Amino acid sequence: MELFTKCLHAGYSPQNGQPRVAPIVQSTTFRYDSAEQIASLFDLESSGFFYSRIGNPTVDMLEQKIASLEGGIGALCTSSGQAANLLAILNLAKNGDHVISSTNIYGGSFNIMTNILKRFGIETTLIDQDANDDAIAAAIKPNTRLIYGETLANPALSVLDIERIAGIAHAHGVPLIVDNTFATPALCRPLEYGADIVTHSTTKYMDGHAVQLGGAIVDGGSFDWTNGRFPEFVEPDQSYHGLVYSDAFGPAAYIAKARVQLMRDMGCCQSAQGAFYTNLGLETLPLRMQRHSENALRLAKWLACQPRVQKVSYPGLPGDKYHALSRKYLPHGASGVLTVVLEGGREAGVKFINKLKLVSIETHVADIRTCVLHPASSTHRQLQDDQLALAGVEPGLLRISTGLENVEDIVADIEQALA
Ligand SMILES: *Cc1c(COP(=O)(O)O)cnc(C)c1O
Repeated sequence: MELFTKCLHAGYSPQNGQPRVAPIVQSTTFRYDSAEQIASLFDLESSGFFYSRIGNPTVDMLEQKIASLEGGIGALCTSSGQAANLLAILNLAKNGDHVISSTNIYGGSFNIMTNILKRFGIETTLIDQDANDDAIAAAIKPNTRLIYGETLANPALSVLDIERIAGIAHAHGVPLIVDNTFATPALCRPLEYGADIVTHSTTKYMDGHAVQLGGAIVDGGSFDWTNGRFPEFVEPDQSYHGLVYSDAFGPAAYIAKARVQLMRDMGCCQSAQGAFYTNLGLETLPLRMQRHSENALRLAKWLACQPRVQKVSYPGLPGDKYHALSRKYLPHGASGVLTVVLEGGREAGVKFINKLKLVSIETHVADIRTCVLHPASSTHRQLQDDQLALAGVEPGLLRISTGLENVEDIVADIEQALA
């Protein structure tokens, strides 16, 4: 199946007389005829649902669709994007291990890297994803378990050179995890460029309608977990009466371990109702991504010509620092988010957003409705101008998430606010 078809049909094929739309199976548990049947499910000898923390039919349908869209062999849905990234990392790294992350990542992921992992005894090295091969390779240590970055970073809007970084990682027996939230599989499929694991905040474009939090981890199925760096995959798991993940699950060892070990014990699962909403959003994902990208590019081009605008960042814009990488990895559109720096700093930013009528002020991106955030007066308001500069956030910087409205209406609102 091709992309649009997968969005509508992957993961659920109703049989004769069954519901056309994948139903919400609102049940925590599942009934069996005998103790032996339940035992064989717990022993992972047969497949089936027994408790919705570990698996639920509605969530399973969404997992299969997302895996299919990314070209992976399996997926695990989580309660949020934060949970997806945390589990994706903890599935590989434990106390005493080391991970490498690009600095250009989402604020919540940055906190995981610099704060939460430390509490688990995991050390993080932050790297410049645009540094040369030798500089990146130099960060890899004997206890490094993964390299992490975002296809299209929130909010830096840098484009990750996935093929190059995957090559460096693989030369050292280390996997690459890519958060593909902003691009979505409609615009880029990181597994095709050598990434090993893909994560998502499905809260953003996959849902797309600002109704449901969620996350997903997708397993590419091609990384060799038996290469000596990942003892947890080749040694018996005492918490699962001696199960050896690589032996039991082969190429699907990563995603199986994430589910039967981490999800079993940490419990940050997606709900059936939540999966239903996210699936509704996914059905129109490619159509929306096309339109988000077109509107963002037209808005970026218009903004770049405005006298009160100092700078526009959008990788789809010719002349942007990441335009060449965008043409390689995002040839069908660079998604809906752009940033602009207004003349007049913090004060101008505040004045501008207060004048907007159609475009709304929100701590969100990827909605079908255009929204804007001024970090210096919201998420970063505790910082002085010099601290803002260190965080890479200029006082007059605005993050605009372009929706699906007629672009003329978006432009008109921004034009009157600028005036
Ligand atoms: C929003 C976001 C997250 C976190 O997702 P939540 O669903 O809000 O927990 C992770 N990564 C990226 C790139 C994001 O934009």
